[in-house]
Amino acid sequence: MPGEKSSCLEGFSSASHDFHTNDPSCRLMESPPYHEHGYGPPSNTPPMVSLAEGDINWEQSLCYPTPNSSVDEDQRSHPSTESSEGAHEHSLDKTTTSATFYPGANTYYIPSDLVCLSSDMVAFYVHSELLLATSDNHFHSLVVGKDLRGTRRTVIHVPEQSAILNIVLHAVYGLSATRYAPTFDELSRAVDRLEAYGVHPSTEITAASALHSTLLSHAHVDPMKVYLLAAKHDIFDLAVSTSSHLLSFPLNKITEDIAIKMGPKYMTRLFSLHRGRLVSLKRLLSLLPHLHPPSPKCNLKMQNTMARAWKLASAYLLWQDRPDLSSNYIDAVFRTLPEHVSCELCKWAFQCHIQTVTAGWRKVQSTI
Ligand SMILES: [Zn+2]
Repeated sequence: MPGEKSSCLEGFSSASHDFHTNDPSCRLMESPPYHEHGYGPPSNTPPMVSLAEGDINWEQSLCYPTPNSSVDEDQRSHPSTESSEGAHEHSLDKTTTSATFYPGANTYYIPSDLVCLSSDMVAFYVHSELLLATSDNHFHSLVVGKDLRGTRRTVIHVPEQSAILNIVLHAVYGLSATRYAPTFDELSRAVDRLEAYGVHPSTEITAASALHSTLLSHAHVDPMKVYLLAAKHDIFDLAVSTSSHLLSFPLNKITEDIAIKMGPKYMTRLFSLHRGRLVSLKRLLSLLPHLHPPSPKCNLKMQNTMARAWKLASAYLLWQDRPDLSSNYIDAVFRTLPEHVSCELCKWAFQCHIQTVTAGWRKVQSTI
């Protein structure tokens, strides 16, 4: 009906054409996350979605609802592939569109042939070819194995909130979702859901992947949460990257619940990391500054005084039992000691030894 077509297009055509520049930051700055009709998340959420612009040929790509069509609520709440054009188009009539996966987005080398509709009615224009190539279960059996490319996009209902589906699809496309500032809880839920869509976190989330970087950005805040997520899905690269943030985590704070979640593999690696660094620190500090030949100004007894000072400072460092000591901190502990020595040879030997020890400490492995 012309009336429905007009009202549908009005909403989509109101978005700025500047939205589809090649600069993602421009899109963020100039496009509202949602249209004002009230669908989708509240306006203060990250700008994950925006309305599609008007340069898309909606006449060819989409149809419009008939006056009497209605959406089957069961189809919205359960995964299914739409076969009815009426239901298919009625769904899109009330959606907002992803700010990354919009019609005409340059996310793949061919035009999108599939629309993933989240449970909160956000449309993600994607490519069945890529989803099928990445997923080993036809994307939760939602995407059929045949070639879906044609004159009309197929719509599938995906039983996920848009915040989660957005992260899942970014992972599939190898794109970074960092600009949406997802919370760790959202990221964690998305990673948990990847398996359901036939995407395996252990192989897909590598050090080179965008999702790895996004997850790692949360390691500064709560590294244990990130490490446990990595352990849960055996995401080794993420566990390695996160482990350096756990050097300051007291191992006696690991509760039974944490231990169970971490599992023996990653628990052993974390304990070995802490123990290995402490052993290395002890070995480095056990070496004493070189002695110089006795002279009238500095005999062996005076040099032994310096050695005792080194041992005392070393004992202080080892007593702290901290594998996360920085080389700067170690340097600061020793640095003031030579100031109390009048012998220039002893001072020089002491300072050289500090440099040797701190350089050695920097080379000690800091990840699992
Ligand atoms: Zn001396």
